[in-house]
Amino acid sequence: MKKINVARPYIDKNDIGAVLQVLKSGWLSLGPKYKEFEREVSNYAKVKHASAVSSGTAGLHLAVKALDLKKGDEVITTPFSFIASSNCLLYEGIKPVFVDIEETTYNIDPKNIEKAITEKTKAILVVHIFGQSANMGSILRIAKNNGLKVIEDACESFGAYAGKKMTGTIGDVGVYAFYPNKQMTTGEGGMVVSNNKRIIELCNSMRNQGRDIYSDWLGHQRLGYNYRMDEISAALGISQLKKLNWMIEEKRKIAERYNDNFKEEKNIIASNPLIRQSHSWFVYVIRVPKKRDLLIKTLQKQGIQTKPYFPVIHLQPFMRKEFGYKNGDYPISEKIASQTVALPFYIGLTNSEIDYISKKVIQSINLP
Ligand SMILES: *Cc1c(COP(=O)(O)O)cnc(C)c1O
Repeated sequence: MKKINVARPYIDKNDIGAVLQVLKSGWLSLGPKYKEFEREVSNYAKVKHASAVSSGTAGLHLAVKALDLKKGDEVITTPFSFIASSNCLLYEGIKPVFVDIEETTYNIDPKNIEKAITEKTKAILVVHIFGQSANMGSILRIAKNNGLKVIEDACESFGAYAGKKMTGTIGDVGVYAFYPNKQMTTGEGGMVVSNNKRIIELCNSMRNQGRDIYSDWLGHQRLGYNYRMDEISAALGISQLKKLNWMIEEKRKIAERYNDNFKEEKNIIASNPLIRQSHSWFVYVIRVPKKRDLLIKTLQKQGIQTKPYFPVIHLQPFMRKEFGYKNGDYPISEKIASQTVALPFYIGLTNSEIDYISKKVIQSINLP
C-alpha cells in the first residue's frame, strides 16, 4: 500500500546547490548569507527591518522580550493555535489570556477582546491561523484605544495579506517561521520583522548572547540567547524565497481541487473559507462535524496520513494545571478543534492522489 504523508517540503536542485556552496565555503555561521536573507525577506514583505533566528518559537520569544513584556503582565491571544504562540509568553512568566475565535476563519474574534482586557493587559498576540489573516483592522483599533502592543504570529501566513500589507508587518512586530511544513523552509528557522528599528536591534542583540553590534565580542549588554540562524539555513531560505510565489500558487491549486471535490458534501465544511483579502495556504484543513476521529483512523489504515489541527491550547495538560482552564471555557475553539483535520497537502501531490484522498474521505464520513 502506498503511503501519503500529510506534508513534505519542496526542495529542488537550486536549493541543494545553494546549500552545497555554503558547505564548500567553510563559513557556516555569522557570514554573509543570513544578512542577505534578512534583506530579501524585508523586500518581499515590504517591511523595514528583519532579524533571522533559529526558529519561529525563538523569534516569538525575542519579540515578546523586545516589547519589554514581563512577568505579571497579561497578553490576549487565541487558544486555537500551535502551542508556541502561548509558550513564548510562558517563558517570561506572562499570562496568556485566551479569547474565543471566529467560527468562519478560526482566527481570534475581535468582539471578544475588549471584555478580556484588564489593568495588567499589555499586548494582543494575534495568530494568522492556517495562512489566513485575522481581522487586523478591528484588532489595531482595539489596541490603539487601549494602549496595547500588537505581536503578529505570522508563522503560518508568510505571503498572506491583510488588506494591502503582508501579515507580520502590520502590528508592532511580526514573526515568520520556516519549519519544513511551512510555506517555505530553511530546515529550522524563523524571522522577526518590524518597521521599528529599535525592536530589531534588540532582537539582533538577544539572538546573539546579548552582544551589541557596536560592542566587543565579549561584551554582553543584556541577557541573551543563542537563537542565531546558521548560514546553511539562510542559503536555503534565499533559494526558497525565489520560488515562494510559485509555491503559494501551486498550493492554492491543490486546495481548490480539494474544495471542488468536496463541494457537494454536506458533511464536510471545506475550510477555512477565504473571507479576507488573501490566503497563503499553509495546510488544507476540512471540518467534519461528525466522526472526525473515526475518519482519521480509517484514512490511517488506508495509508493516508492526516493531523487533527489543532487541539486547543488551554486544555493541554500543563495549561490546565498552571491556570485551571477547563472544558467549555472557549466553546467555539473547542468545537472547531474537535472537528478539524488536515489532509495531505504538499507540492508534488498529483491530481489523481488528491482525487483518491478525497474519495476515501467522502466514503469514510458517509459510512453508516
Ligand atoms: C510553526 C508555528 C510556530 C513556530 O514554529 P517553529 O517550529 O518554532 O518554527 C509558531 N506559531 C505557530 C502558530 C506555528 O504554526
